[in-house]
Amino acid sequence: MEEIVKSNSNFIHDIIDEELASGKNTRVQTRFPPEPNGYLHIGHAKAICIDFSTAEKYGGECNLRLDDSNPSKEDVEYVEAIKADIEWLGYKWNNVYYASDYFDFVYECAIKLIEKGKAFVCDLTAEEMREYRGTLKEPGKNSPYRDRSVEENLDLFRRMTAGEFPDGSRVLRAKIDMASPNIVMRDPVIYRIMHVSHHQTGDKWCVYPMYDFVHPLSDARERVTYSLCTLEFENNRPLYDWFINEIGFEEPPRQIEFARLNLNYCLTSKRKCLRLVQDNIVTGWDDPRMATLCGMRRRGYPAEAVRNFVDKIGVSKANSVVDYGLLESCVRDVLNANAPRAMAVIEPLKVVIDNYPEGKTETITVECHPDHPEMGTREVTFSREIYIEQGDFMIDPPKKYFRLYPGNEVRLKGAYFAKCVSYETDENGNVTVVHCTYDEASKGGESPDGRKVKGTLHWVSADDCVDAEIRLYDRLFNAENPSDETNGDFTTNLNPDSLVVRTGCKLEGGLKDIKEGDVFQFMRQGYFCVDKDSTPDRIVLNRTVQLNSSWGK
Ligand code: ATP
Ligand code: MG
Repeated sequence: MEEIVKSNSNFIHDIIDEELASGKNTRVQTRFPPEPNGYLHIGHAKAICIDFSTAEKYGGECNLRLDDSNPSKEDVEYVEAIKADIEWLGYKWNNVYYASDYFDFVYECAIKLIEKGKAFVCDLTAEEMREYRGTLKEPGKNSPYRDRSVEENLDLFRRMTAGEFPDGSRVLRAKIDMASPNIVMRDPVIYRIMHVSHHQTGDKWCVYPMYDFVHPLSDARERVTYSLCTLEFENNRPLYDWFINEIGFEEPPRQIEFARLNLNYCLTSKRKCLRLVQDNIVTGWDDPRMATLCGMRRRGYPAEAVRNFVDKIGVSKANSVVDYGLLESCVRDVLNANAPRAMAVIEPLKVVIDNYPEGKTETITVECHPDHPEMGTREVTFSREIYIEQGDFMIDPPKKYFRLYPGNEVRLKGAYFAKCVSYETDENGNVTVVHCTYDEASKGGESPDGRKVKGTLHWVSADDCVDAEIRLYDRLFNAENPSDETNGDFTTNLNPDSLVVRTGCKLEGGLKDIKEGDVFQFMRQGYFCVDKDSTPDRIVLNRTVQLNSSWGK
């Protein structure tokens, strides 16, 4: 059993309850603010669930805001993917905004700061600026450009905006406190020159605001009341509040930080995920081994399972690493409840029932789900030749092996008892065909006379089975923390067996028309879904998760 961390507490909701009760706030509005520089991953799912479900709980709004203030790394492809992932998770935003929608407003705010004497144009080089910044132990030094007049600053900033200066030659900085113990407050850069066109604003701008400046202003402008973000922004909160306060807003938003979701054996960094894609280590952002939401969707993880998972890990301020097994158990719970049952043989071995009449077939009716009669029944063909799993036959079995071996009798699920009478091998000694006899009186797999069999095998009829390719996935990394780069970069931690492709697998005949996204529990094997690569001529399935936890074994 995995340890289930059941957390009913949500400190963010406690804060909101308190503020609503005291009248400090009367509304709840949140936003989910991804930067469109990659696909969303399981970590983002936590933020999405928190942002949207908080708004939902209090009857407020949650908007999608694409934080596109850094044009050099962003792309519209990502915008569409982000929207698709949020919708898949089951959330609906009230509005879609872009941080770049506010560039005019943010620019006016910069002018306002300059006019208040709270921002200045600085000509230090990046390296000089680093030297002047000081360290955690030592205060920084004021820039020699810090005391420029308001007029000079306004003039220089306008000329920066007009494109008169090259990239990196000057920046606009907030004038706060070079001696602050919080380095973030030491006259941070708020605008930089970048002669780059932007996917929303084109070539209108050659100066772009920094994230720390745009973010609070966007929140305030949208009238967000709670700006929920991850803990690494805790140090930035005083700066967030400083901007809000200096510009002045009637309803100042409040930033609240929660712990990031870290999952063992997974990479949750867009930058590193991008490398996996660019270096062809995976087949794309939606490779079923990726911790991206599109990868998990393709792998067959139900959105409900991802939401349940986020709910189970709870919302707290303590950073921790969550075991991947917990996510898998959430996936299993949802699929166990909903996935229709079927039989498939992944590594087939032919069995001939010697005493079953040649040419005869019969149809066996079995239930689609043991707990859901309303899911109905399906028909499975039985015939003289069937396939079983290679691993279900041994010539010379160890003790406690209850499957098929010479002289042993097993139950063929839902069909008959069958007893192994002989087998054939090829020149290398590999078993090619197993011969059995069946007991006609055991129809339905029921014992006719009280005699017992210990093994029950899944099987498919050679008469009508369909071929399929099955992709067996395992974790992409062998290291619990793939980002630990002490032994070289993270690609040294890859699991060489993360994908095993089996072709010539045999599915029961009723599955011949399955389509992308269909899910099944294959008896004794696990949960599977039809992959997008599947065509009517070539069925391709992904193993979503095994029946029992194999994690960490
Ligand atoms: P990455 O490091 O993968 O690039 P990011 O934090 O830069 O992620 P953003 O697009 O800026 O990604 O994130 C959008 C929102 O998702 C932010 O509010 C961020 O705090 C949140 N988020 C990102 N990663 C996680 C995580 N692992 N757990 C919880 N929330 C996260
Ligand atoms: Mg980011």
